[in-house]
Amino acid sequence: MDIEEISKHFIHVYNRNLVFTKGEDVYIYDSQGNKYLDMGAGIAVCALGYSNEEYKQALKEQIDKIIHTSNLYFNEPSVKAAGYITEASGLDKVFFTNSGTEAIEGAIKLARKYAYLKNKDSKGSIIAMEHSFHGRSMGALSVTGTKHYREPFEPLIGGVSFAEYNNLESIKSLINQDTCAIIMETLQGEGGIYPASEEFITGIRKLCDENDILLILDEIQCGMGRTGKMFAYQHYGIKPDILTMAKALGCGVPVGAFAAESRVADAMCPGDHGTTYGGNPLATAAVCKVFEIFHEKGIVQHVNEIAPYLKEKLKALKDKYNTIIKDIRGTGLMLGMELSIPAGNIVKEALENKLILISAGSNIIRFVPPLIIEKEHIDTMYNILDGIFNNTCNICKELNN
Ligand SMILES: *Cc1c(COP(=O)(O)O)cnc(C)c1O
Repeated sequence: MDIEEISKHFIHVYNRNLVFTKGEDVYIYDSQGNKYLDMGAGIAVCALGYSNEEYKQALKEQIDKIIHTSNLYFNEPSVKAAGYITEASGLDKVFFTNSGTEAIEGAIKLARKYAYLKNKDSKGSIIAMEHSFHGRSMGALSVTGTKHYREPFEPLIGGVSFAEYNNLESIKSLINQDTCAIIMETLQGEGGIYPASEEFITGIRKLCDENDILLILDEIQCGMGRTGKMFAYQHYGIKPDILTMAKALGCGVPVGAFAAESRVADAMCPGDHGTTYGGNPLATAAVCKVFEIFHEKGIVQHVNEIAPYLKEKLKALKDKYNTIIKDIRGTGLMLGMELSIPAGNIVKEALENKLILISAGSNIIRFVPPLIIEKEHIDTMYNILDGIFNNTCNICKELNN
């Protein structure tokens, strides 16, 4: 396919030049038949890789039964899926959406409604984090901590201030009687793979409890087992008041959700919120099967077994190429490699070597492979990266001479 020709018909918000046609195990194939090792999983979505027959079968069966009913009625898969989510999260009630962004929208609306019921004059102020990413709609963008994403689209929703991630004092200085919610990723993804420190997140939980402020944890990327717990907050022994999830929730079928404790969730009443597609039978059949496979196959346990190996290999690269690789960080299978050069160069070379990598920020490579990844795949990735960094180092040395 001619990239220039097909690009003509798309609004140009992505720079892309490959067409992918099929997936198999942890590999995807382009339209020329080239096979790529996938360390991006469609941006942390395809946790089960591309060949899970049980998952595919469940979708096919649901298509034959019914695809859509609207939310004017219950449907069976969504009832079961809501049960799985509440059980896994320890929260009480769920609302299904079509995307992560919409889960954030719902979470913000719920927090505002909760504050409104306490005090009709509430300003509903929200504290969000610098370098956060919560989505592209006007609401989600309003709490996204990257100024150049927001600026061209202002005015956004009001009452949002930004705190420094992992700096509790910065949060304290922003809290006032108008604060209704604090929103953060438990582990920042797009912003560059920064996990919350224990002190920070437990400190925020305490501040929220003391001031009846709602803690919204965005686990759209870091949730669903990626960090070695079903949800990343479970590493810290705390719970959010509102949780958002999406990406791996449907493992490829577009679906998201937000969940909350009854105390908070019950602030919403009929008419307050809705969606035509959200939680439709096809999407939630995927969610159900994902939870069932996670359980049967011990996916989270596998993450805990395999993730140390990935980190070890990335650290080995850092030791070898310490002029280019500055830091390796992250939890489970959500790891970041900070570079002293633009990440785009390495991502591009990796693609040429049939390895899919994605960046986070300008100089960080993000490793979010399918959760079913095995040592042999990590070894292949290591060898490709070793070659690329070796070349890059030689070029740097020549430039310096
Ligand atoms: C991807 C992402 C979103 C947005 O989800 P979409 O499904 O793209 O709307 C929000 N928050 C985080 C942390 C994400 O990684």
